[in-house]
Amino acid sequence: MAEPVDLLALARTFGDTALERWERLVSLETPSADADRAAVFGAELATSLAATADRIAHPPGPGGDHLVAYWSGSGTADDGARPGHTLLVAHSDTVFPAGTIARRPFTLAEDGDTVTGPGVFDMKGSLVAVELAMELLSRTGAAPRRPVRLVVVNDEEIGSPDGSRLVAEHAEGAHAVLGLEPPLPGGALKIGRRGVARIRLSVRGVAAHAGLDAALGVSAIDELVDQLASLRAAAASFPDAALNVGTITGGTRANVVADHAEAEIGLRYASPETERALMKAVLEPKPVRERATLSTSTLSHRPAWAMNPANPLAAELVGLAGTLGLELPLGSSGGAGDTNLTGALGIPTADGLGPAGAGAHGEDEHASLSSLLERAALIAGFLQTH
Ligand SMILES: [Zn+2]
Repeated sequence: MAEPVDLLALARTFGDTALERWERLVSLETPSADADRAAVFGAELATSLAATADRIAHPPGPGGDHLVAYWSGSGTADDGARPGHTLLVAHSDTVFPAGTIARRPFTLAEDGDTVTGPGVFDMKGSLVAVELAMELLSRTGAAPRRPVRLVVVNDEEIGSPDGSRLVAEHAEGAHAVLGLEPPLPGGALKIGRRGVARIRLSVRGVAAHAGLDAALGVSAIDELVDQLASLRAAAASFPDAALNVGTITGGTRANVVADHAEAEIGLRYASPETERALMKAVLEPKPVRERATLSTSTLSHRPAWAMNPANPLAAELVGLAGTLGLELPLGSSGGAGDTNLTGALGIPTADGLGPAGAGAHGEDEHASLSSLLERAALIAGFLQTH
């Protein structure tokens, strides 16, 4: 059985393979919900993973197909292997429109370590790390102790409207969930993430001439403004909440009392308690004006994954990193992702297992090759021993 330390030494010989695969995956652009590009990318990933996986499935989704890869485990109940599989959660989509690669191609900087290009950090590098982790295990004649499933959704960057169904399905029965999102600065793992929701608040009022019959009308805009002010006050009363009114529309012209108005509201919350209270305030608004009608619709929702400093999975990963001679700091994230779901369900979850870097979603996005190789060894070591 390979020692974790050997896995790291071997991983460090994989630099050229890593760069080749990284460039390939970055060059195949994958804007969210682009079915044709998702199909090309999915076929590429399936081919590379098939070398080590037992089975690949392409569950359909609106936009483009997701991908699930399955590996069997070598452990038995006799050797103390607990039941359940390890779930790896990833996404193939990026926030960048097709064509970005022509302007900003995959590039390795002169330092021989820093890689740039659309999606290098979020999260094409993470997918390469998984490929290499599985390659490391097969090269050393090792196998994952427990069965492993890798779920790659293609709509994460738009809130996983369909992909979260797949994550929930494969989280069932998992003993641990490793999220492959980019880590916090310095490569720190995420062991808690704020939840996020997008809600549309619509108001119907009564139109009237603003000069002659103003008293007959009910201004939907005035009602919306009052509602937003009271929601803002409600959000401000929670130290771990944030509210952002992202868009606002309504009315027709200055001499007409507006009969309609609506706003799209973004909410963030760090604890389930705040989530419940804030969602109730937003979803059950009480009209200030008697004849105004309010309605709401939830456009997307990710539950809060409250940080638990005693997360046992995180402790295991930190211990394993220690045996590799690597530091592995821990933290919590202000942004949400697919692991919010598994963390909120109470399944041991750690995220941020992608390579270190910075600048996700921006022009300055970059990631570290040496970190990618370390992550491959860490993931391989975890799968081999847990
Ligand atoms: Zn991501």
